[in-house]
Amino acid sequence: MSIKSVTVSAAEISTLGSGGMIQKAVFPKNMTELVSLQRTYSVSNRLYIAGGLSNTLVLGTGERDVVIFSDGFKGIRVRDDIVSVLAGEKMTHVAEVARICGLSGLEDLCAIPGTIGGAVSGNAGCMDSSISDVVESVKLFHLDDGQTEILSAEEIAFRYRYSNLRKNVDFITEVSLRLIADDSAKIAARMSKVRNKRKETIPLQRSLGSVFKRIEGVSCGYYLDVAGYKGKNVGGMQVSEKHAGIIVNTGGGTPEEYLELMTDCEKIIQKTVGKKPEREVIVLGGDL
Ligand SMILES: Cc1cc2nc3c(=O)[nH]c(=O)nc-3n(C[C@H](O)[C@H](O)[C@H](O)COP(=O)(O)OP(=O)(O)OC[C@H]3O[C@@H](n4cnc5c(N)ncnc54)[C@H](O)[C@@H]3O)c2cc1C
Repeated sequence: MSIKSVTVSAAEISTLGSGGMIQKAVFPKNMTELVSLQRTYSVSNRLYIAGGLSNTLVLGTGERDVVIFSDGFKGIRVRDDIVSVLAGEKMTHVAEVARICGLSGLEDLCAIPGTIGGAVSGNAGCMDSSISDVVESVKLFHLDDGQTEILSAEEIAFRYRYSNLRKNVDFITEVSLRLIADDSAKIAARMSKVRNKRKETIPLQRSLGSVFKRIEGVSCGYYLDVAGYKGKNVGGMQVSEKHAGIIVNTGGGTPEEYLELMTDCEKIIQKTVGKKPEREVIVLGGDL
């Protein structure tokens, strides 16, 4: 069985509302299709893994590249305090399901866009919580050798916005979370507080969230603000006036403009701090 690839515009999928063309995108719906894809493409193509593209700048990919989306991996099972989630489920939806089931642990993460697979890959977090706080185990499919594997949270060696999973090789198919039983109404109240707080700090315009990781606990937005970079723009992309750590699309911004502005910000932060900031945003395509 072969799964057809399609050409899609990343602009239509990404939270940035901007992005190049993905010449070969595939959307497997289950393990059988994923295995078949791996057999078809792994030798002569470069394979990339994508979730919701809420943290990925897509410059455009060519005929040799195959971007495998996790979209079709949908399903949530709850057994006692363990929630098993297929990779393509949205983080926001998983948090809602946990609330309905009276399970606490995802409140701080309840408004993070993107999929659970993407969240685990980059150890997404908010406030003082990260997804790694609640990960019990992760099921993987290796795109290089077609093997499957289950890793415990300890084996993944999570750190701040980091997991040791191999980028574009270890396809996360399922994540098991260990949560804690609590009153649904209390969970809902905490979620509402988090959402309100984020409304105050996160720009409304389309973006990819924070561009850089913190440096020794300090947000790179702080350094950009001090450097007078709030509002600085390249074409339609702009360092947010509300949160200097986020680049927003003010309308019609291109991925190349985002890249140019991000590189510019990198240089300013390096000049101020004496060290190159690490990108949180992943760049897909272009000359890679
Ligand atoms: C408005 C806004 C607010 C945000 N706030 C936060 C925040 O508070 N905290 C935070 O941490 N992030 C935040 N983000 C960034 C982003 O939403 C998260 O990093 C999210 O977890 C990325 O998920 P995704 O599915 O969109 O991943 P993608 O952008 O599609 O991919 C990100 C990385 O994960 C990998 N990946 C995706 N799915 C899989 C899979 N199934 N298997 C293996 N690898 C995979 C990709 O290869 C890529 O390396 C924000 C973004 C926006 C737009």
